[in-house]
Amino acid sequence: MKHKILIIEDEPQLVGILEYLLKDEGYSVLAAYNGEDGLKLAKMEKPDLVILDIMLPQMDGFEVCNRIRKYTTIPVIILSAKKEDENIIKGLEIGADDYITKPFNHRELILRMQKILKRISTHKVTKKIKIGDLEINLSTKEVAVKSNRINLTPTEFNLLSCLAINRGRVLSWESLLSEVWNYKDWEGGREIVKVNIRRLRKKIEPDPSHPVYLLNVWGMGYRIACRSIED
Ligand code: CA
Repeated sequence: MKHKILIIEDEPQLVGILEYLLKDEGYSVLAAYNGEDGLKLAKMEKPDLVILDIMLPQMDGFEVCNRIRKYTTIPVIILSAKKEDENIIKGLEIGADDYITKPFNHRELILRMQKILKRISTHKVTKKIKIGDLEINLSTKEVAVKSNRINLTPTEFNLLSCLAINRGRVLSWESLLSEVWNYKDWEGGREIVKVNIRRLRKKIEPDPSHPVYLLNVWGMGYRIACRSIED
């Protein structure tokens, strides 16, 4: 399958280089020269991955990444001239999947993109996910803890499998609301996600008040623990 990559970058020359590089690797490429257009394209075209600059006119890349994370789990690679650790940490904290500094090595960018895309497509075809004593069977929709079958509602199952498929990544309540419930920008959404996380914890966690599987990431959202994985 040809992956669709969205570039959000305001330097036309660099967009040209990236376009050439990515097309040469067999990707289909879209480009936006500012954050607003980038967000519109991300929504309309549903790319498989976004390459995002930080220093953009009007809305900076951090804000763009924040907004992308509010409704989707599309992987984001930040490509920026900002080399300071605090910027790299900030980028990763707001949900970017990787951070590459400019000037960048072309091969390295392609390899890092391939790694992220491969991880996601492998997760998508995985049938069984095992994390500690928790087993999730994505084809039969069965969940077990220490081999004891757990009864989940379809929504609880979808929420758990969404976190499990995206293991290793932090998902905001907005993106969970959009992926699991198909709701967007709904005021009561945060509470719905919270209540369902709490219910899931009661069913799968050894001690729901000290969760080991469904973890809160302060100020960002939720992630599933990542211990052992089997296909
Ligand atoms: Ca720039």
